[in-house]
Amino acid sequence: MDSHLLPAAIKRLGQNFLIDPNIVRKIVALAELTSTDTVLEIGPGRGILTEALCRAAGHVTAIEIDPRLHAYLTERQPRFSNITLVLDDAMTYPIEHLPIGTIVVANLPYYLSTPLLFRLLDQRNRFPRMVLMLQNEVADRLVAKPGGSDYGVLSVMAQYTADIAKAFKVSSQCFRPRPEVGSAVVLLRTKKQRESGPEEKSRFTTLVKAAFAHRRKTLLNSLKDQGYEQKLVAAALSSLNLSPSIRAEILSIEQFVELTRCLYGADFSSLHQ
Ligand code: SAM
Repeated sequence: MDSHLLPAAIKRLGQNFLIDPNIVRKIVALAELTSTDTVLEIGPGRGILTEALCRAAGHVTAIEIDPRLHAYLTERQPRFSNITLVLDDAMTYPIEHLPIGTIVVANLPYYLSTPLLFRLLDQRNRFPRMVLMLQNEVADRLVAKPGGSDYGVLSVMAQYTADIAKAFKVSSQCFRPRPEVGSAVVLLRTKKQRESGPEEKSRFTTLVKAAFAHRRKTLLNSLKDQGYEQKLVAAALSSLNLSPSIRAEILSIEQFVELTRCLYGADFSSLHQ
């Protein structure tokens, strides 16, 4: 392919390409890369971030789903010897084969940012740090604290697995084509896996989803509606010194963990009616 002919953007693949070198510099600086680091980039696109990553890191694996962009990047690849370009879907590519300690740096396709984030967090022992550009509204939910309207399943599930900071917002003028939503870059430092048993994560996930299923109801009623036994929930809340009228959006991550342990420790067999 002629390298002067850049493939046109495909909207449904979330192709909003960065055009501002300052933003690229800020993203790479945030990742604190050294020449021995291995990096995973999802969606290299036209390669503006990829080339900066190749300069800063030891090795870059870049997974792109669009064969036209993969061909375009392959043609430019001889400029860098430390890159593996993969033509694949990042939702199915075996990221579990990447080296432990890989740092993720990506301007994510927004249509898929949340599922991709959770796929990465599922392998969090492999990825100590992630610098991700995503929708500003998603960034706000990722860092939301208890009590606010942004705090919900996404906040609890993400903060259960990582310490997250919103680093900076990015104007839509920094992209071509311009996205319809605002953007922000977040830094995630993943936490060590802390589940006390193999079932705890799925119990925690089920509980958190059930807790937020009816935001206007009390936690007790919300869980009851989702099939949890009311007596057990009431007893668990009481043993954690939580009011029976508390709402899910007030609970901290630690309180959700304690509630999961308390409920399932209490009497797992009769938990669901
Ligand atoms: N990194 C480039 C940049 O900053 O200019 C492009 C970012 S653009 C927001 C998202 C990129 O992800 C596009 O190149 C798109 O083709 C790619 N993409 C979309 N879905 C993907 C998937 N499932 N797996 C891998 N790449 C994907």
